[in-house]
Amino acid sequence: MNLLKKDFFFQDVNKLKGVGIQLSRYLKKKRIEKIKDIILNFPYSETNRSRLSKLNNLEIGKIQTIKVLVKKLYFPRVKNLPNRIVCEDETGNIDIVYFNSREGYLRKIFPLNEWVVISGKVNFFRNKYQISNPDYVTSLENQDYVIKNIPKYSLTKGINEKKYRSICDQVTENLPKIDDWLSDDFIKENNLLGWNNAIKKLHTSLENDNNSSSYRRIVFDEICANLLTLAENRKRIRKDKKEKQFSKIFSKKIINNLEFKLTNDQKKVLNEINLDLSNDKRMFRILQGDVGSGKTIVALLSISNVIESGYQCALMAPTEILALQHYKLAKKIFKNTDTNIIFLTGKTEKKEKIKILKDLEHGKINIIIGTHALFQKKIKFNNLGYIVIDEQHKFGVNQRTDLAKKGGSNCDLLLMSATPIPRTMMMSLYGDMDLSKISEKPAIRKKIITISKPEKKIKEIYSFLKKNIDKQNQVFWVCPLIEDSKFLDFSSAKKKFNEINKFFPNIVGLLHGGLEKDEKIKVLRKFLERKISILVSTTVIEVGIDFPNANIIVIENANKFGLAQLHQLRGRVGRGDKQATCILLFKEGLSKNAIKRIKILKNSDDGFFIADEDLKLRGFGDLTGYQQSGIKSFRFADPVIHSDLFELAEKYIFNIKDKVNQKKYIFLLKLFDKADIINFSEI
Ligand code: ADP
Ligand code: MG
Repeated sequence: MNLLKKDFFFQDVNKLKGVGIQLSRYLKKKRIEKIKDIILNFPYSETNRSRLSKLNNLEIGKIQTIKVLVKKLYFPRVKNLPNRIVCEDETGNIDIVYFNSREGYLRKIFPLNEWVVISGKVNFFRNKYQISNPDYVTSLENQDYVIKNIPKYSLTKGINEKKYRSICDQVTENLPKIDDWLSDDFIKENNLLGWNNAIKKLHTSLENDNNSSSYRRIVFDEICANLLTLAENRKRIRKDKKEKQFSKIFSKKIINNLEFKLTNDQKKVLNEINLDLSNDKRMFRILQGDVGSGKTIVALLSISNVIESGYQCALMAPTEILALQHYKLAKKIFKNTDTNIIFLTGKTEKKEKIKILKDLEHGKINIIIGTHALFQKKIKFNNLGYIVIDEQHKFGVNQRTDLAKKGGSNCDLLLMSATPIPRTMMMSLYGDMDLSKISEKPAIRKKIITISKPEKKIKEIYSFLKKNIDKQNQVFWVCPLIEDSKFLDFSSAKKKFNEINKFFPNIVGLLHGGLEKDEKIKVLRKFLERKISILVSTTVIEVGIDFPNANIIVIENANKFGLAQLHQLRGRVGRGDKQATCILLFKEGLSKNAIKRIKILKNSDDGFFIADEDLKLRGFGDLTGYQQSGIKSFRFADPVIHSDLFELAEKYIFNIKDKVNQKKYIFLLKLFDKADIINFSEI
């Protein structure tokens, strides 16, 4: 192969010898499309073919390597009878059998009365050792290619080891040396390896635990590529805009009419947002705050400023019921102003929708609140100036960028999230955004009492609930499953519903993801209007609906959930001014780790602290609830094992941020498939 150095990495794999249409199609399925994908597909283990075994000393069922003399070749030419080659050494003999190979080929690789090296899995058949379709057969001259530890790549059926190895060898043997983007000093200082060396080692020496210096080098590069992408994204989104002018007339009025005082953190983040709005660069900000920290009012106050400055605003929530809640609150706080607020979801009647679309386009609507229906193509704004998205934890970089594009050149963007992202990962996930954070909770809020109980004491819990329901309090009862499962010994919502219904007739509702949307809304509404007192449900109640009167939550099989998730669930109660209780139900015999986790939950109500602890205890691989937030988007980096590298990469990128256009960094971005992400058209 004779390719220019820089081209080599990004050529299609079908440029390699022996890779035809079928194989390249197969490789594509394994996400190997370019030559660089082969380079970054490291072996996970190795097969030991390095020891030569004598024929009287073979182990059945194992892969072994033998050096033998070819004695006889049989080509029976009868259907279903294999071709057979008899070989021997000084200690015995063996049959090598082939089911689908041509005679000419076999005669070539098994020259009569000559020595060959064969490697493959040894079987025992009709009282004789045999190897069928061996992995390797070579002459003695080429034996070094076989007699060694051979890297094992994760490949499923469709391609054999030898084939893949020969492709991989073509690549690694022709690997052009590249100029490292890291300096020698930096590499040495941080115990990493140079790129060229690291790649070679990762393919050969097989000391590939995920903390070897070669592996850590690739991890570092991957994190850097990610951070660079975000930095570039940020540069492109934070473009010039018309600054918004307002004197906070509305927001002051609203604040005066609130039943509570804003916390210092709420004031602080509101100030940060206001500064961005009145600035001449587009805002691209994330507002992080634990459940119940009071993000909604901050959003609405900032919206009021944008309205004052003459722009339209859009507030999007992930579910209809949450959107409706925001809408009602907005209606209430904007009551004595002439602000026109509209509610739009996928279910809005056609006739009404047409009118809304018209009014929006003509600027008659100031605030539109709804679900993702707000961002359909046909929706056109007159002068959209501000998009606020609530509970955005399902958005990755691409989606954020899309949203920024939709808004147009004068539009500011605020995302709100209650997903506590562990500190080490914040930059790698949201490095393109500015961060506002509410840590403090409203002072009137009492700390939720968290207790744990074994399941056999469920009667005690029932009588506790009875007392509370008599006092007009409401209860969430959370189960991990919808229905009983043959395979999982967890409690199901349906069964629990029947059980609880017997104790508390006519005041129990059932909610789970299997219900029709209408049915769900009906049940939630009943609960909100206090027509029922207990809501048995799956984790669908996780997302931020406010039920001020619900102040008890029972969570069954609590050890099935991650800490962060338990904390989110717990946050469903205690949103009014009554004392709230969270009861974690367990089966007997908890592990040490489980006990530790309960303790953390009991002692802390700081979601960010809990997320960090969760990460330490469970490890990255187990983190549920985060999957969709993009944390899992790393291929090599693991936020637990490599947390130091995340920090190091942040520092490194900070220093080079403005020089991303340098060729070497573009190369780095391309290696990790990031170049496409930032190559979007103008926003
Ligand atoms: P989240 O940050 O989870 O979205 P919300 O905005 O829904 O929290 O607020 C939760 C509850 O706290 C609401 O009922 C809200 O009215 C109330 N709240 C917000 N700010 C304050 C405050 N400063 N003092 C007291 N209650 C507040
Ligand atoms: Mg909220």
